[in-house]
Amino acid sequence: MDRPGYHSPQVDVAVRLNTNESPEGPSAEYRAELSRIAGGLELNRYPDRRASLLRRGIAARHGLSEENVFCANGSNEVLMCLLLFFGGAGRKALVFEPTYALHRHIAELSGTEVVLGKRDERFAIEPGPAAELVARHRPAVVFACSPNNPTGNLERLELLGDLAAAAAPGLLVIDEAYGQFSPESATSLLGEHENLAVVRTFSKSWALAGLRLGYLLSSSEVVAGCERSSLPYHLGSFTQAAGLAALAHEEEMTARTSRLLQERERLARRLEALAVETWPSSANFILFRPRSRGGHEVWEGLLSRSVLVREVSSFPRLEDCLRVTVGTREENDAFLEALAQVLEGPR
Ligand code: PMP
Repeated sequence: MDRPGYHSPQVDVAVRLNTNESPEGPSAEYRAELSRIAGGLELNRYPDRRASLLRRGIAARHGLSEENVFCANGSNEVLMCLLLFFGGAGRKALVFEPTYALHRHIAELSGTEVVLGKRDERFAIEPGPAAELVARHRPAVVFACSPNNPTGNLERLELLGDLAAAAAPGLLVIDEAYGQFSPESATSLLGEHENLAVVRTFSKSWALAGLRLGYLLSSSEVVAGCERSSLPYHLGSFTQAAGLAALAHEEEMTARTSRLLQERERLARRLEALAVETWPSSANFILFRPRSRGGHEVWEGLLSRSVLVREVSSFPRLEDCLRVTVGTREENDAFLEALAQVLEGPR
């Protein structure tokens, strides 16, 4: 089997805005707490296999119970566990492109047949065609990424509710990796649909991409399925304790998120003044397409000025598009200045 992997180049640049990480790290207090935690761990022992304390902490945040939470090493691993149990040979997964490429990639790795759906001109899932595909293929798993990566748009809750109802008994997996940057969340639909799974991560707004921690919120049956497909002791003691400690610093995360949202709006306004087409974003990144230059040429021009963004032109319908992560004010200014130079400079 020869499949390309999924990754964005990790090159050494001054301004790295290509992987939607938080530009700020966690606070000094939280870091000090991590040192204390590391010092106190019984590392000769296996971790709590059920990750009970962490799951309880996350559940409390969402008004749920431990049985409704599954944790893994990043939300990618959560998705992998989901597909291993609910997908597989003879089953289908429905994705709406352009979207997060890993949904398709993980489905294919698990032997699940992938059905491709479309989006409208603003990249929203189209209710009629989506319902038709669900009725025709009866997928075991339907993916909706909201806010969608790399386009940044948020799906309407009404559409997600209808999709969950249509997909049952198949699962509707809503990937909310960027949930904290958007005004609403599909977690409000959890009580209504047993087949709904909302996936979240500590890698973005929590500023903990290096920790590798993500989770799923769903019915106890879906959580039990993920537990069956995960390896024993898959989540280390340090990760569990560090995640739990992060929850106690939630106000730090919300303050950081609102600073980023202000920056996102400033960046969006400044981009409007340049020769690029942009799309509204409910996430911590902005999709744009240079009007007068090729996407790859602009990507290279930025890179030669030590600014790295994500080239997404290989995604369906995103020819010549680039995606920039919202960074610090200084990083965003450096990006804007470099972009203006590339767009205006000689060909
Ligand atoms: N889902 C989406 C939509 C993402 O963009 C990402 C990260 N790029 C992930 C999931 C995976 O995040 P992690 O594994 O770091 O939790």
